Amino acid sequence: MTLFYIETYGCQMNKAESSTLVSLMIEKGFCETKDYQEADIVIINTCSVRKTAENRVFGRLGFFKRQKRFRPLDIVVMGCMSQRIGEQLINSHYGIDFVVGNFNKEKIPELLLHKRKGEKGLFIEENTVIFPDPFPEESNPAKAFVTISHGCNNFCSYCIVPYLRGREVSKNSADIIKDINRLTSLGVLQVTLLGQNVNSYGLDKHDIDFPDLLKMIVKETDLKWIKFMSSHPKDFSDKLIDVMATEDRVASWVHLALQSGSDRILELMNRKYTSGDFKEIVRKLKSSIPEIALTTDIIVGFPGETDKDFNDTLDMIDFVQFDDAFMYKYNERDNTLAHKEWVDDVPDKEKVARLSKLIDIQRVINHSRREQRVGKVYEVIPERLSQDGSGKVLGVAREEFMVLYDGSEDDFGKIVNVKTTAANGSSLVGVKV
Ligand code: SF4
Repeated sequence: MTLFYIETYGCQMNKAESSTLVSLMIEKGFCETKDYQEADIVIINTCSVRKTAENRVFGRLGFFKRQKRFRPLDIVVMGCMSQRIGEQLINSHYGIDFVVGNFNKEKIPELLLHKRKGEKGLFIEENTVIFPDPFPEESNPAKAFVTISHGCNNFCSYCIVPYLRGREVSKNSADIIKDINRLTSLGVLQVTLLGQNVNSYGLDKHDIDFPDLLKMIVKETDLKWIKFMSSHPKDFSDKLIDVMATEDRVASWVHLALQSGSDRILELMNRKYTSGDFKEIVRKLKSSIPEIALTTDIIVGFPGETDKDFNDTLDMIDFVQFDDAFMYKYNERDNTLAHKEWVDDVPDKEKVARLSKLIDIQRVINHSRREQRVGKVYEVIPERLSQDGSGKVLGVAREEFMVLYDGSEDDFGKIVNVKTTAANGSSLVGVKV
């Protein structure tokens, strides 16, 4: 029995792709282990969006290289780092056996099955995108991710993704329906549709657009909850807001990446919307869907960001009252327009200070948003027993926040109603009703 261990870095799409790879490996007779010490194969699914993510992977590669000195171990590196610096990785001192880029991942089980002793390989050609079959999440089989588009056409000036995942390709709507029907037959209650920009789904194929895809899923499947990410504000249409407001099974949660509240910085970022456009979307969402939860991504310290620009971002988070936010310091990525055109001129000390101020303010908003939800009844999909041994269950709401409630393992695989009784940090506490 050959055991493999997989480590995943980066976005939800990487997590979905790792989960699919696990299932494909198992189909080929490999067994997954959660303990790298007993693994015969280590697979690292990498991210290149930030330097810090790459540095962590280099640290792990050094660690596994040392393991390889004492026992036979195959090392596979896949994902965006493979696409970006595949040649460098395969020729490095880390002892990597296969480097597999974003267009060749489905080859991995076969490569490992037929691997000869000492064989090495680099597979980073930009082939036709193959959308592999999605599977229920390992950690919660009531949930799954379905990738509906691959790549991105937007070229935000700071972002390396279009250079590593190529131009946007949408999956056929009929195949998405087939995937979801297969997943619901396996007990999946919630699917999160994934794409770098789900709102431009279908535009490359002149197939149906994203709001019509949501309506089609509602009509042609029994899926209970439909979630999606990420949304680009420039493509977030009134038609989509109408579908969200009228179709109960489309969850009341939007991850809408703001990146900056300053119009000047948004223009330099090539985001193609203004702070006014963003506010307008938020106003419409809140008035059409009162329970809507909004989450976002924000970058601080973009080249040339002044105190005034940063204050515009603070004003925006005060206006929107996001339920949660992922906040980062800008770091340069090779080949991007920002790297070529502008000096990374905000001192690191200043970036750290702005980031920590932003995090502190958002933490207060997170808590206040949770408090506003106390005393209401929410539908929840149970995730796991809480780790404190209290026997409580941690679940995820339609609005994507976490709820800890008195429940039992019998709840798994069902949607339960929970009345919230208190806000606890970034989650809520409640009782089953
Ligand atoms: S929309 Fe912008 S930030 Fe998102 S993947 Fe595309 S280029 Fe990157």
